[in-house]
Amino acid sequence: MTIHHVTSSRFKEQSHAALADAVLQGNLTRMRGNFLPRRAKVRDGLPEFDDLRDAGIAIKKHTIAHLDLYLEAFEAAVAATGGTVHWAADAGEARAITLSICQELGARTVTKGKTMVGEEIGINPYLEAHGITPVETDLGEYIIQLADQPPSHIIAPAIHLNRAQVGQIFADHHPHLKGRVMEDVDEMLDDARGVLRQRFLDADVGITGANFLIAETGQTVIVTNEGNGDLTQLLPKAHIVLAGIEKVVPTLEDATTILRVLARSATGQEMSAYTTFSAGAARPGDPDGPGAFHVVLIDNGRSALLGGETEDILRCIRCGSCLNACPVYGKVGGHAYGSNYSGPMGAILTPALAGMAEAHHLPNASSLCGRCEEVCPMRIPIPKMLRHFREEEMKMGLAPAAARRGLKLWAKLASRPALWRRATSLVTSVLGAMGRRRGRFSALPLSGAWTATRDLPAPQGKSFQSQWARRS
Ligand code: SF4
Repeated sequence: MTIHHVTSSRFKEQSHAALADAVLQGNLTRMRGNFLPRRAKVRDGLPEFDDLRDAGIAIKKHTIAHLDLYLEAFEAAVAATGGTVHWAADAGEARAITLSICQELGARTVTKGKTMVGEEIGINPYLEAHGITPVETDLGEYIIQLADQPPSHIIAPAIHLNRAQVGQIFADHHPHLKGRVMEDVDEMLDDARGVLRQRFLDADVGITGANFLIAETGQTVIVTNEGNGDLTQLLPKAHIVLAGIEKVVPTLEDATTILRVLARSATGQEMSAYTTFSAGAARPGDPDGPGAFHVVLIDNGRSALLGGETEDILRCIRCGSCLNACPVYGKVGGHAYGSNYSGPMGAILTPALAGMAEAHHLPNASSLCGRCEEVCPMRIPIPKMLRHFREEEMKMGLAPAAARRGLKLWAKLASRPALWRRATSLVTSVLGAMGRRRGRFSALPLSGAWTATRDLPAPQGKSFQSQWARRS
């Protein structure tokens, strides 16, 4: 199991670079002002939002508890509609299955809807290495493909770029523009639409992800706002759906229940512009549809989470709400996380799938303020799981030696109340006396990470413990 091209071990360097990037900081500030107010507005307009949320959580919990049964039911239902399910234990198998379907059809070009699991398994570079050209058709994905960058957000992959940057990317990659940098967003949209139209017509195979797999009907479901997913799957010789095994739900009604909270949580819409249900290949007499329908069910480490401390992350419906609410993501952006899964959900999913050795920094990228759990439509206990990974980091000896020594010392003090009181009272008095004149410190031993960017206030008066003791 692994995630393609993970650079999470460089999280600290990558976040420092992001913080020093003034353009990125401006783009992230704009993003923070967009998503959350829209989500709050549509949420407030639906009084039964929390009931739907509870119903969605119950559906997901039930399905995950019986995952094998529902996946087998889904496979049988897909077969009944003339499609084929392929089981991929890991990223390598998923890539090989996808490639072999493309090669059997003699495919030269492949159009793609946005699929995070496609990013996870690194399908694009793999197809390219075998002479097949993948073309992203979601606008954000198309932009970052041209720019040769990974996505920085699970629902808005190019959110780290502004209008001027996108204009420059089009100028650099669309020869018909002859280097002209467009400034008008509508003109850019028209331009991308014109380029992609021909790509849709040329494609031999269309690849999409899936927001849901419906066990009852064998349908796969995607939500988009651009209609690109429909053109991706309707026009070519074959439609391949890449999906994690946790995407299955029992019935059509279950999918529609969760759909009602998904769009509201993701983009602040009541419903996405397009919700597409796909089932099987085109039948004789159908006006359109793919010649063949394949679903690649990808495990890649997910089944190992079942019954464990991080099983709840399998409820994630990839709405992106936790990213939008996270103060850390809001400052460092998605690329700093070094994984296509970024923000709070990425700080769980990346170490869970790629391993702690690769991603142990990510669970520390949180103040544990709890906003992620608060906004999560599936109420996934992200802070609890972050703490679990922090404990694992300690047990595995991956935390820096100074942090390990510091925590050991803290544990010794904190488990001896009398000693704790004496030590804190001594430190408070000494620091209070030292900082009396300025009221703050701009440098202090062991506090370099804090004082590098801000002053540390000097203690004012007695410690909380001693004031409390005097009151009671
Ligand atoms: S963890 Fe929750 S809020 Fe974050 S993407 Fe998943 S479902 Fe959305």
